[in-house]
Amino acid sequence: MIIHELTVAECEGLLARSTVGRLACADDGQPYIVPISYAFDQAAGCLYGFSTLGRKIEWMRRNPKVCVAVDETADRFRWTSVVVTGRYEELGDDRDARESRQRLHQHFEQRQSWWLPATARLAAGEERETPVFYRIRIDQLSGRQTSRPA
Ligand SMILES: Cc1cc2nc3c(=O)[nH]c(=O)nc-3n(C[C@H](O)[C@H](O)[C@H](O)COP(=O)(O)OP(=O)(O)OC[C@H]3O[C@@H](n4cnc5c(N)ncnc54)[C@H](O)[C@@H]3O)c2cc1C
Repeated sequence: MIIHELTVAECEGLLARSTVGRLACADDGQPYIVPISYAFDQAAGCLYGFSTLGRKIEWMRRNPKVCVAVDETADRFRWTSVVVTGRYEELGDDRDARESRQRLHQHFEQRQSWWLPATARLAAGEERETPVFYRIRIDQLSGRQTSRPA
């Protein structure tokens, strides 16, 4: 098995094909990683996501430096993976953020079934929590892929 590096275009191809990644953030020296759904906006150079309030949002607000790993794994000899390092930015209500929110919605709406944790109804009687919409601005991309020797 040989492992080779992907070009930026190949990394972007995997980000565009996939919809789930592992988001890592850190606070006070402690890493934390969770699976998330995302949408890749190549033109804007970012990943979009949404979430309810919880540990990862609290931590990313304190430390916006994050890392996202995405992979396609057929078996342990055939896989492709991309690692993104970037910065967490919440999409508030200013004009730029509103445009990004629209793009986020367009990306997620193209999917047949999209994961809606952030808008899921809470237990009866409780108010629905407002989701947090965010983007991860991509600073750096790297990718690796296996291939079998001829
Ligand atoms: C395929 C997939 C896609 C997902 N997509 C999204 C998404 O787009 N947006 C989104 O907000 N969430 C998504 N989730 C759920 C996500 O992984 C988190 O469980 C959830 O967001 C809560 O994270 P939090 O930091 O707010 O945890 P909190 O509710 O604050 O809870 C923190 C505590 O719960 C534990 N915990 C949290 N999440 C997990 C987990 N997944 N597995 C094990 N322990 C956990 C932590 O270790 C910690 O002890 C997805 C999960 C899967 C499997």
